[in-house]
Amino acid sequence: MREVVEALGLRLWGRVWGRPVYLVTEPLPLIGVIQFGVIDRGTNVLQVRPTTICPLSCIFCSVDAGPRSRWRQAEYIVEPEWLAGWVHKVAVEKGVHVEALIDGVGDPFAYPWLPRLVKLLKETGVVRSVAAETHGETLTKELIGKLEEAGLDRVNLSIESLNPEKARKLAGTPWYDVRRVIELAEYIARETSIDLHVTPVWLPGINDDDIVEIVKWAYRIGAGKKWPPVTIQKYIRHRYGRHPPGVREIPWNKFWEKMKRLEEELGVRLTWSMDEWGMRYAPRVRHPIRAGQRVKLVVAGPGWLRGEKLAVTMDRQRLVTIVAAKGLEPGDIVLARIIRDKDGIFIAKVV
Ligand code: SF4
Repeated sequence: MREVVEALGLRLWGRVWGRPVYLVTEPLPLIGVIQFGVIDRGTNVLQVRPTTICPLSCIFCSVDAGPRSRWRQAEYIVEPEWLAGWVHKVAVEKGVHVEALIDGVGDPFAYPWLPRLVKLLKETGVVRSVAAETHGETLTKELIGKLEEAGLDRVNLSIESLNPEKARKLAGTPWYDVRRVIELAEYIARETSIDLHVTPVWLPGINDDDIVEIVKWAYRIGAGKKWPPVTIQKYIRHRYGRHPPGVREIPWNKFWEKMKRLEEELGVRLTWSMDEWGMRYAPRVRHPIRAGQRVKLVVAGPGWLRGEKLAVTMDRQRLVTIVAAKGLEPGDIVLARIIRDKDGIFIAKVV
Protein backbone atom coordinates (compact mmCIF):
# COMPACT_ATOMS: atom_id res chain seq x y z
CA MET A 1 0.00 0.00 0.00
CA ARG A 2 2.84 2.35 0.91
CA GLU A 3 4.41 1.85 -2.56
CA VAL A 4 1.10 2.66 -4.26
CA VAL A 5 0.73 5.91 -2.31
CA GLU A 6 4.32 6.95 -3.00
CA ALA A 7 4.02 6.18 -6.73
CA LEU A 8 1.04 8.56 -6.86
CA GLY A 9 3.04 11.34 -5.20
CA LEU A 10 2.15 11.09 -1.50
CA ARG A 11 4.87 10.19 0.97
CA LEU A 12 4.38 9.78 4.70
CA TRP A 13 6.64 12.52 6.10
CA GLY A 14 5.93 12.45 9.83
CA ARG A 15 3.20 12.94 12.39
CA VAL A 16 1.79 15.97 14.13
CA TRP A 17 -0.79 15.96 16.97
CA GLY A 18 -1.46 12.29 16.27
CA ARG A 19 -2.17 12.84 12.58
CA PRO A 20 -0.03 11.71 9.63
CA VAL A 21 1.69 14.43 7.58
CA TYR A 22 2.05 13.64 3.87
CA LEU A 23 4.63 15.18 1.58
CA VAL A 24 3.01 15.88 -1.80
CA THR A 25 5.33 15.47 -4.79
CA GLU A 26 5.32 14.81 -8.51
CA PRO A 27 3.24 13.25 -10.14
CA LEU A 28 0.26 14.13 -7.93
CA PRO A 29 -1.59 17.00 -9.66
CA LEU A 30 -1.94 20.20 -7.66
CA ILE A 31 -5.36 21.44 -8.62
CA GLY A 32 -8.78 20.16 -7.57
CA VAL A 33 -8.84 20.18 -3.75
CA ILE A 34 -9.15 22.91 -1.16
CA GLN A 35 -6.41 21.82 1.23
CA PHE A 36 -3.29 22.19 -0.93
CA GLY A 37 -2.10 23.16 -4.39
CA VAL A 38 -3.40 25.95 -6.60
CA ILE A 39 -6.87 27.53 -6.67
CA ASP A 40 -8.03 29.68 -9.58
CA ARG A 41 -11.18 31.70 -8.92
CA GLY A 42 -11.27 33.48 -12.27
CA THR A 43 -9.04 36.46 -11.50
CA ASN A 44 -5.35 37.27 -11.86
CA VAL A 45 -4.83 36.16 -8.23
CA LEU A 46 -3.91 32.51 -7.72
CA GLN A 47 -4.20 31.02 -4.26
CA VAL A 48 -1.13 28.93 -3.58
CA ARG A 49 -1.46 26.45 -0.70
CA PRO A 50 1.75 24.81 0.51
CA THR A 51 0.64 23.32 3.84
CA THR A 52 -2.33 22.50 6.02
CA ILE A 53 -0.35 22.72 9.26
CA CYS A 54 -0.95 25.46 11.84
CA PRO A 55 0.41 25.63 15.40
CA LEU A 56 -2.57 27.61 16.73
CA SER A 57 -6.14 26.52 17.53
CA CYS A 58 -8.04 29.80 17.11
CA ILE A 59 -11.50 29.47 18.63
CA PHE A 60 -13.09 30.94 15.46
CA CYS A 61 -10.97 29.02 12.92
CA SER A 62 -13.07 28.43 9.81
CA VAL A 63 -10.95 25.46 8.73
CA ASP A 64 -10.61 23.65 12.09
CA ALA A 65 -6.80 23.81 11.99
CA GLY A 66 -4.18 23.12 14.64
CA PRO A 67 -3.65 20.81 17.59
CA ARG A 68 -7.29 20.96 18.68
CA SER A 69 -8.79 19.98 15.33
CA ARG A 70 -11.83 17.72 15.63
CA TRP A 71 -12.43 16.85 11.97
CA ARG A 72 -9.01 16.42 10.41
CA GLN A 73 -7.41 13.04 9.79
CA ALA A 74 -4.29 14.07 7.83
CA GLU A 75 -2.05 17.07 7.13
CA TYR A 76 0.00 17.82 3.99
CA ILE A 77 3.02 19.77 2.86
CA VAL A 78 3.83 20.25 -0.81
CA GLU A 79 7.26 20.05 -2.36
CA PRO A 80 8.10 23.68 -3.36
CA GLU A 81 9.49 23.01 -6.88
CA TRP A 82 6.40 20.97 -7.80
CA LEU A 83 4.07 23.68 -6.43
CA ALA A 84 5.82 26.54 -8.25
CA GLY A 85 5.72 24.42 -11.43
CA TRP A 86 1.94 24.13 -11.13
CA VAL A 87 1.55 27.87 -10.57
CA HIS A 88 3.51 28.40 -13.79
CA LYS A 89 1.40 25.85 -15.67
CA VAL A 90 -1.91 27.38 -14.50
CA ALA A 91 -0.82 30.98 -15.22
CA VAL A 92 0.37 30.03 -18.71
CA GLU A 93 -2.94 28.30 -19.39
CA LYS A 94 -4.86 31.37 -18.15
CA GLY A 95 -2.69 33.53 -20.38
CA VAL A 96 -2.03 36.23 -17.77
CA HIS A 97 0.61 37.30 -15.30
CA VAL A 98 -0.60 36.47 -11.81
CA GLU A 99 -0.34 37.62 -8.22
CA ALA A 100 0.41 34.64 -5.98
CA LEU A 101 -1.37 34.65 -2.63
CA ILE A 102 0.12 32.00 -0.37
CA ASP A 103 -2.70 31.02 1.96
CA GLY A 104 -4.40 27.85 3.02
CA VAL A 105 -6.24 25.80 5.58
CA GLY A 106 -3.15 26.13 7.78
CA ASP A 107 -0.65 28.90 8.43
CA PRO A 108 1.75 29.27 5.45
CA PHE A 109 4.44 30.45 7.87
CA ALA A 110 4.45 26.95 9.34
CA TYR A 111 5.70 25.70 5.94
CA PRO A 112 9.37 24.81 6.28
CA TRP A 113 10.35 25.96 2.75
CA LEU A 114 8.51 29.31 2.52
CA PRO A 115 11.50 31.46 1.40
CA ARG A 116 12.37 28.84 -1.20
CA LEU A 117 8.79 28.79 -2.49
CA VAL A 118 8.69 32.60 -2.73
CA LYS A 119 11.95 32.60 -4.70
CA LEU A 120 10.76 29.84 -7.03
CA LEU A 121 7.48 31.66 -7.66
CA LYS A 122 9.32 34.86 -8.52
CA GLU A 123 11.56 32.89 -10.91
CA THR A 124 8.63 31.46 -12.89
CA GLY A 125 8.43 34.68 -14.91
CA VAL A 126 4.62 34.66 -14.69
CA VAL A 127 4.23 35.82 -11.09
CA ARG A 128 4.16 39.60 -10.57
CA SER A 129 3.89 39.67 -6.79
CA VAL A 130 3.86 37.22 -3.91
CA ALA A 131 1.89 37.73 -0.68
CA ALA A 132 1.61 35.33 2.24
CA GLU A 133 -0.98 35.12 5.02
CA THR A 134 -0.22 34.41 8.65
CA HIS A 135 -1.29 34.84 12.25
CA GLY A 136 2.36 35.63 12.92
CA GLU A 137 3.18 33.08 15.56
CA THR A 138 6.13 31.57 13.69
CA LEU A 139 7.58 34.94 12.55
CA THR A 140 11.19 35.69 13.47
CA LYS A 141 13.53 38.44 12.29
CA GLU A 142 15.66 35.79 10.63
CA LEU A 143 12.71 34.38 8.66
CA ILE A 144 11.57 37.89 7.68
CA GLY A 145 15.10 38.57 6.37
CA LYS A 146 15.06 35.39 4.30
CA LEU A 147 11.64 36.21 2.88
CA GLU A 148 12.69 39.74 1.99
CA GLU A 149 15.72 38.36 0.20
CA ALA A 150 13.53 35.81 -1.62
CA GLY A 151 11.32 38.66 -2.91
CA LEU A 152 8.20 38.43 -0.74
CA ASP A 153 6.08 41.50 -1.49
CA ARG A 154 3.47 41.47 1.26
CA VAL A 155 2.49 39.83 4.54
CA ASN A 156 -1.24 39.63 5.27
CA LEU A 157 -1.33 39.54 9.06
CA SER A 158 -4.41 38.38 10.94
CA ILE A 159 -4.53 39.68 14.47
CA GLU A 160 -7.76 39.81 16.49
CA SER A 161 -6.70 41.64 19.67
CA LEU A 162 -3.68 43.61 20.82
CA ASN A 163 -4.38 42.55 24.40
CA PRO A 164 -2.10 39.59 25.30
CA GLU A 165 -4.60 37.77 27.51
CA LYS A 166 -7.49 38.13 25.09
CA ALA A 167 -5.30 37.26 22.09
CA ARG A 168 -4.25 34.04 23.85
CA LYS A 169 -7.87 33.08 24.43
CA LEU A 170 -8.85 33.84 20.84
CA ALA A 171 -5.87 31.86 19.53
CA GLY A 172 -6.91 28.89 21.71
CA THR A 173 -3.21 28.63 22.58
CA PRO A 174 -1.80 29.38 26.04
CA TRP A 175 1.70 30.19 24.73
CA TYR A 176 0.58 32.58 21.96
CA ASP A 177 2.40 35.87 22.54
CA VAL A 178 0.78 38.73 20.64
CA ARG A 179 3.39 41.22 21.93
CA ARG A 180 6.04 39.39 19.92
CA VAL A 181 3.77 39.38 16.84
CA ILE A 182 3.15 43.15 17.24
CA GLU A 183 6.88 43.83 17.52
CA LEU A 184 7.66 41.80 14.39
CA ALA A 185 4.79 43.32 12.44
CA GLU A 186 6.13 46.80 13.24
CA TYR A 187 9.57 45.64 12.16
CA ILE A 188 8.16 44.46 8.79
CA ALA A 189 6.28 47.72 8.24
CA ARG A 190 9.12 50.04 9.26
CA GLU A 191 12.35 48.26 8.43
CA THR A 192 11.84 46.03 5.43
CA SER A 193 10.73 46.37 1.82
CA ILE A 194 7.89 43.92 2.53
CA ASP A 195 4.46 45.51 2.75
CA LEU A 196 2.15 44.75 5.68
CA HIS A 197 -1.59 44.33 5.29
CA VAL A 198 -3.49 43.82 8.54
CA THR A 199 -6.57 41.57 8.33
CA PRO A 200 -8.35 41.10 11.69
CA VAL A 201 -11.40 38.86 11.88
CA TRP A 202 -14.27 40.78 13.49
CA LEU A 203 -16.10 38.57 16.00
CA PRO A 204 -19.23 40.59 16.84
CA GLY A 205 -19.67 40.98 20.59
CA ILE A 206 -16.16 39.67 21.32
CA ASN A 207 -13.55 41.96 19.77
CA ASP A 208 -15.52 45.08 18.68
CA ASP A 209 -13.26 47.50 20.59
CA ASP A 210 -10.12 45.53 19.71
CA ILE A 211 -10.89 45.96 16.01
CA VAL A 212 -10.87 49.74 16.43
CA GLU A 213 -7.50 49.56 18.23
CA ILE A 214 -6.07 47.30 15.52
CA VAL A 215 -7.16 49.63 12.71
CA LYS A 216 -5.56 52.63 14.45
CA TRP A 217 -2.40 50.61 15.12
CA ALA A 218 -2.13 49.42 11.48
CA TYR A 219 -2.32 52.99 10.19
CA ARG A 220 0.04 54.27 12.88
CA ILE A 221 2.85 51.80 12.14
CA GLY A 222 2.79 52.41 8.38
CA ALA A 223 1.08 49.27 7.11
CA GLY A 224 0.07 49.65 3.46
CA LYS A 225 3.25 50.87 1.78
CA LYS A 226 1.92 49.78 -1.61
CA TRP A 227 -1.30 47.88 -0.98
CA PRO A 228 -4.22 48.84 1.33
CA PRO A 229 -3.15 48.89 5.01
CA VAL A 230 -6.07 47.08 6.60
CA THR A 231 -9.13 45.00 5.75
CA ILE A 232 -11.53 43.67 8.37
CA GLN A 233 -12.60 40.09 7.75
CA LYS A 234 -16.17 39.00 8.34
CA TYR A 235 -16.69 36.03 10.65
CA ILE A 236 -18.42 33.28 8.68
CA ARG A 237 -19.74 30.07 10.24
CA HIS A 238 -18.45 27.08 8.33
CA ARG A 239 -19.78 23.57 8.83
CA TYR A 240 -16.40 22.17 9.85
CA GLY A 241 -15.11 25.37 11.42
CA ARG A 242 -14.96 26.32 15.11
CA HIS A 243 -17.74 28.50 16.47
CA PRO A 244 -17.02 30.65 19.53
CA PRO A 245 -19.96 30.61 21.95
CA GLY A 246 -22.13 33.71 21.71
CA VAL A 247 -20.84 34.89 18.30
CA ARG A 248 -23.48 35.18 15.61
CA GLU A 249 -22.74 35.54 11.94
CA ILE A 250 -24.15 38.87 10.77
CA PRO A 251 -25.55 39.44 7.25
CA TRP A 252 -23.29 41.03 4.63
CA ASN A 253 -25.34 44.27 4.46
CA LYS A 254 -24.90 44.78 8.22
CA PHE A 255 -21.21 44.06 7.88
CA TRP A 256 -20.76 46.72 5.16
CA GLU A 257 -22.83 49.20 7.20
CA LYS A 258 -20.47 48.63 10.13
CA MET A 259 -17.43 49.15 7.87
CA LYS A 260 -18.84 52.44 6.58
CA ARG A 261 -19.61 53.59 10.13
CA LEU A 262 -16.10 52.73 11.27
CA GLU A 263 -14.58 54.55 8.30
CA GLU A 264 -16.52 57.69 9.25
CA GLU A 265 -15.74 57.43 12.97
CA LEU A 266 -12.01 56.80 12.48
CA GLY A 267 -11.49 58.90 9.36
CA VAL A 268 -9.67 56.07 7.55
CA ARG A 269 -10.50 53.73 4.70
CA LEU A 270 -11.36 50.09 5.31
CA THR A 271 -12.97 49.10 2.03
CA TRP A 272 -11.09 48.79 -1.25
CA SER A 273 -11.87 48.21 -4.89
CA MET A 274 -10.43 45.33 -6.90
CA ASP A 275 -8.48 47.94 -8.81
CA GLU A 276 -6.77 49.18 -5.67
CA TRP A 277 -5.67 45.60 -5.11
CA GLY A 278 -4.39 45.33 -8.68
CA MET A 279 -6.95 42.56 -9.09
CA ARG A 280 -8.97 41.89 -12.23
CA TYR A 281 -11.03 39.15 -13.82
CA ALA A 282 -9.02 36.73 -15.94
CA PRO A 283 -9.88 33.59 -17.91
CA ARG A 284 -10.30 30.52 -15.77
CA VAL A 285 -8.17 27.48 -16.33
CA ARG A 286 -10.23 24.81 -18.16
CA HIS A 287 -10.96 21.63 -16.26
CA PRO A 288 -11.30 18.20 -17.86
CA ILE A 289 -14.14 17.24 -15.46
CA ARG A 290 -17.28 18.96 -14.19
CA ALA A 291 -20.25 18.54 -11.86
CA GLY A 292 -22.67 15.77 -12.82
CA GLN A 293 -20.06 13.80 -14.77
CA ARG A 294 -19.09 10.19 -13.96
CA VAL A 295 -15.34 9.74 -13.81
CA LYS A 296 -12.89 6.96 -13.05
CA LEU A 297 -10.62 7.88 -10.15
CA VAL A 298 -7.59 6.30 -8.50
CA VAL A 299 -7.59 6.53 -4.72
CA ALA A 300 -4.29 8.16 -3.65
CA GLY A 301 -4.62 8.35 0.15
CA PRO A 302 -6.57 9.91 2.99
CA GLY A 303 -8.48 13.15 2.50
CA TRP A 304 -7.91 15.92 5.02
CA LEU A 305 -11.25 15.40 6.82
CA ARG A 306 -12.52 12.19 8.35
CA GLY A 307 -14.43 9.94 5.99
CA GLU A 308 -12.77 11.46 2.90
CA LYS A 309 -10.25 10.09 0.43
CA LEU A 310 -7.92 11.97 -1.87
CA ALA A 311 -8.21 10.68 -5.44
CA VAL A 312 -6.77 11.53 -8.82
CA THR A 313 -8.24 11.37 -12.33
CA MET A 314 -6.92 8.64 -14.64
CA ASP A 315 -5.06 11.23 -16.78
CA ARG A 316 -3.37 12.53 -13.56
CA GLN A 317 -4.57 16.08 -14.29
CA ARG A 318 -6.95 16.75 -11.38
CA LEU A 319 -7.35 15.89 -7.72
CA VAL A 320 -10.80 15.00 -6.43
CA THR A 321 -12.07 14.50 -2.88
CA ILE A 322 -14.25 11.40 -2.47
CA VAL A 323 -16.71 11.75 0.40
CA ALA A 324 -18.37 8.83 2.25
CA ALA A 325 -15.30 6.89 1.16
CA LYS A 326 -15.23 4.21 3.86
CA GLY A 327 -13.54 1.00 2.78
CA LEU A 328 -11.55 2.51 -0.12
CA GLU A 329 -7.81 1.82 -0.18
CA PRO A 330 -4.94 3.56 -2.02
CA GLY A 331 -4.65 2.15 -5.53
CA ASP A 332 -8.38 1.29 -5.81
CA ILE A 333 -9.93 2.44 -9.07
CA VAL A 334 -13.53 3.58 -8.63
CA LEU A 335 -16.31 5.04 -10.72
CA ALA A 336 -17.59 8.22 -9.06
CA ARG A 337 -19.94 11.08 -9.82
CA ILE A 338 -18.73 14.65 -9.37
CA ILE A 339 -21.34 16.10 -7.01
CA ARG A 340 -19.74 19.51 -6.55
CA ASP A 341 -17.45 21.66 -8.66
CA LYS A 342 -16.80 25.18 -7.41
CA ASP A 343 -13.78 27.12 -8.67
CA GLY A 344 -12.23 23.86 -9.79
CA ILE A 345 -12.57 22.16 -6.39
CA PHE A 346 -14.13 18.78 -6.97
CA ILE A 347 -16.17 16.60 -4.59
CA ALA A 348 -17.27 13.14 -5.73
CA LYS A 349 -19.24 10.14 -4.51
CA VAL A 350 -18.69 6.57 -5.60
CA VAL A 351 -21.58 5.30 -7.79
S1 SF4 B 1 -7.46 30.87 12.08
FE1 SF4 B 1 -5.51 30.62 11.00
S2 SF4 B 1 -3.96 30.75 12.62
FE2 SF4 B 1 -5.92 30.35 13.62
S3 SF4 B 1 -6.03 28.11 13.81
FE3 SF4 B 1 -7.05 28.66 11.90
S4 SF4 B 1 -5.47 28.48 10.33
FE4 SF4 B 1 -4.45 28.59 12.33
